[in-house]
Amino acid sequence: KVIVFGSINMDLVARSPRLPIPGETILGRDFFTAPGGKGANQAVASARLGIPTQLVGRIGDDNFGRSLLTHLQTFGVQTEHILIDKTAHSGVAIIAVDDSGQNNIIVVPGANGCVNGTDVKNLINLWDNAAVLLLQFEIPLTAVISAAKAAKSVGVKVILDPAPAQIDIPDDFYPLVDIITPNEIEAAQLVGFPVNNFDTAANAASVLLQKGVGTAIVKLGAQGVYCATADSTFFISAFRVQTVDTVAAGDAFNGGLVAAIAEGRSLREGVVWGAAAGAISTTKPGAMSSMCDRETLDRFLNE
Ligand code: ADP
Repeated sequence: KVIVFGSINMDLVARSPRLPIPGETILGRDFFTAPGGKGANQAVASARLGIPTQLVGRIGDDNFGRSLLTHLQTFGVQTEHILIDKTAHSGVAIIAVDDSGQNNIIVVPGANGCVNGTDVKNLINLWDNAAVLLLQFEIPLTAVISAAKAAKSVGVKVILDPAPAQIDIPDDFYPLVDIITPNEIEAAQLVGFPVNNFDTAANAASVLLQKGVGTAIVKLGAQGVYCATADSTFFISAFRVQTVDTVAAGDAFNGGLVAAIAEGRSLREGVVWGAAAGAISTTKPGAMSSMCDRETLDRFLNE
């Protein structure tokens, strides 16, 4: 099974003709809430593909938290080890979007920011039958690192999506990572030079391998995916689809990748599943609601 240790948020989205300037109040046109957070999105992406997927993290003791749990369960994610933190509110992202598609976002981590060693201890009880631990950077780095150490010590594969981009990853973290999956921006932050095409992705991947990761996968949006291990490299072009909204394409990719790996498939198959799940997710609006199920993935790959 797959264990995801990460963030759970409620997105509060308001649309208005333009974004307000500081001090200004304007009328919005519509509003909706949507479950999100990279941890939660990636757990849904994996669970939708039929892989038993446990999400470990925290929500607050509030209506957003209860709604988030219900959504996750509806999507098939195992939620028994999500802790309800009485001292914090559920994580929220307050998102303003204007007619040209520009946005302003405030993320308030709330309960996500309270994740600590207690949650890592909970994780340790879940290693039986676990193939993969999937991590991102929307919970405190210290918790992410100790989870990676714990997984590594029992032979559970560590897959890290280094998102959102953050610069101070300690050098001794990289060797704990079996597979790292940055997008262009995150790869550029990690290696210190721009990454936006095949050549720069190849250079970035070799820097990441030198830092000690087992496999580097660089997600290049509509271009595709570059993948490198110590003894092989390959590139998978993006699938051509009718894209309407690229929100959470990277999360869909990671769900597809871990699902294939948890099923014992090859790295190449994992990257193909990721690229397919990523492409399919761009054909639908939203984050969790754009994650494909297994039947859709199989049909897409057989076309
Ligand atoms: P992120 O959402 O983290 O920025 P990417 O945009 O690189 O990540 O998307 C992840 C993967 O999803 C890409 O590597 C690609 O395989 C697939 N993908 C993303 N955007 C498109 C697109 N417009 N068309 C087809 N596939 C896409």
